[in-house]
Amino acid sequence: MENKKEKTFQFVVVGGGIAGVTCVEQLSSQIPSADVALITAGPHIKAVTNYKQVSRTLEEFDVEEQPSSVLEEKFPNLTIIHSAVKSLHTKSHCVETADGRVFGYKKLCICSGARPKLLTQDNPYVLGIRDTDSAQEFQKRLSKAKRIVIVGNGGIALELVYEVEGCEVIWAVKDKAIGNTFFDAGAAQFLIPSLEADKPQAAAPCKRPRFTTEEAAPGGSHIFTADRSSQAYGHGPTDSGSALGPDWHEGIALRGAEQVSHRVSVEYQCEVEKIFTCEELHKSPEQTLRTECGDWPVYVRLTNAQTFGCDFVVSATGVVPNTEPFLQGNTFVVADDGGLQVDDHMMTSEADVYAAGDVCTACWEQSPLWQQMRLWTQARQMGWYAGRCMAAHILSEPVELDFCFELFSHITKFFNYKVVLLGKFNGQGLGPDHELLVRCTKGQEYVKVVLSGGRMVGAVLIGETDLEETFENLILNQMDLTPYGEELLNPDIDIEDYFD
Ligand code: FAD
Repeated sequence: MENKKEKTFQFVVVGGGIAGVTCVEQLSSQIPSADVALITAGPHIKAVTNYKQVSRTLEEFDVEEQPSSVLEEKFPNLTIIHSAVKSLHTKSHCVETADGRVFGYKKLCICSGARPKLLTQDNPYVLGIRDTDSAQEFQKRLSKAKRIVIVGNGGIALELVYEVEGCEVIWAVKDKAIGNTFFDAGAAQFLIPSLEADKPQAAAPCKRPRFTTEEAAPGGSHIFTADRSSQAYGHGPTDSGSALGPDWHEGIALRGAEQVSHRVSVEYQCEVEKIFTCEELHKSPEQTLRTECGDWPVYVRLTNAQTFGCDFVVSATGVVPNTEPFLQGNTFVVADDGGLQVDDHMMTSEADVYAAGDVCTACWEQSPLWQQMRLWTQARQMGWYAGRCMAAHILSEPVELDFCFELFSHITKFFNYKVVLLGKFNGQGLGPDHELLVRCTKGQEYVKVVLSGGRMVGAVLIGETDLEETFENLILNQMDLTPYGEELLNPDIDIEDYFD
């Protein structure tokens, strides 16, 4: 391998998604003279634009798909290589690409993302959504569909069931409540009416620029206390593209062949038992099933004994980190979720190999208020921090775990509501030893606070609550809130003033 090397770079980053691009930007600005290569399978790169620090840990940004030349123009020492990495040889410090070239590295960062965990491989009636191509394929198939089955309970499923119009949706979730990855049953109850109502006619204008491949009535407020009440985004079929992100559906009409707005039926606590075709159904001895299910191209039998015919199935059941090309011949420690284990310097178990974003699993001793979720924000933070660590190691400088890993924080939108998640927002890992405070105004806001030992450790804020900054501070400073009790969520108290 050694003598096949075309060139040796100081830094090689694999993957042109948010993690890889942010890592390259960080490396190029920390050491402008360094030779950096970005090797990516897709023709475009993902860039973070309009970055805004909303509070100490909350951040918002837009994501644009850009031609890679934009990055090369910005950083003269950067070389972009458009080919997939086929193999990695950690001993000789080089990577081999699909087009047969070999590149050496001093330090390598793997940011190859993740791909969808599909229900079945190679079934033309089962789609996943990950990148622009798969989103377009979904839109094309949806335009002719009368009924689809969506399987999964993470972010993509949540977005889809709300966005799809003109098509009946059967939504199969394995949990007792919708959106289990992000919410508890109370928040799910708050959101369900949005699925039953027609979608607002004019959608709010999209504040994020979109990419192309070419270039309710308020109800009464009430507070109650409860004793306790607990995968993120799935990806689609192509191997090469970067994952889509916020507002991915806003440029494309998600409309089926029928004249209805929403028509969603949720099948709770079930999984897919079998997917079979029309021909298979007709060969089936179950006469009643044939008459009950009607004539559809594909059928899904769920573990709750229900069978649904539909035009196609969307598999939104989580992701698998893209590690395959890197594993063979090396001794990476791989986490249970299939990610490359990284330590608090984003280093894998192989010397001089770092990893960031969806492909890695954070295995350092984590802050009690943070957890990894495969999201845009964490891909950016990890890419940025990996770049910092790689540069610091070359410069023999010390580097400490970044503050962004102190507190989990995420802003998103579900069912047209602003959603802010902080810390252990679902009481993750807290066991029975925690208390919840909830305030809910139907159609307007849902506020949940997770308290442990009288201290705030997490929160879910749905709607325009304006509480994120105050709650973030209360979580970070771990003030004892016992004296305040339920007053903490009293809507008549200006909590911001209260804790000033
Ligand atoms: P990716 O963006 O997947 O990039 C991986 C890159 O690696 C790609 O450029 C790919 O071409 C390249 N690559 C892969 N294998 C190789 C190889 N062998 N050689 C060379 N290059 C390779 N997150 C949110 O926070 N909010 C959201 O609203 C949200 N919505 C989403 C909606 C959808 C439909 C999807 C699919 C995801 C969504 N996510 C969302 C998740 C978010 O997109 C991901 O967490 C994030 O993009 C991960 O970034 P990454 O850089 O690690 O990986």
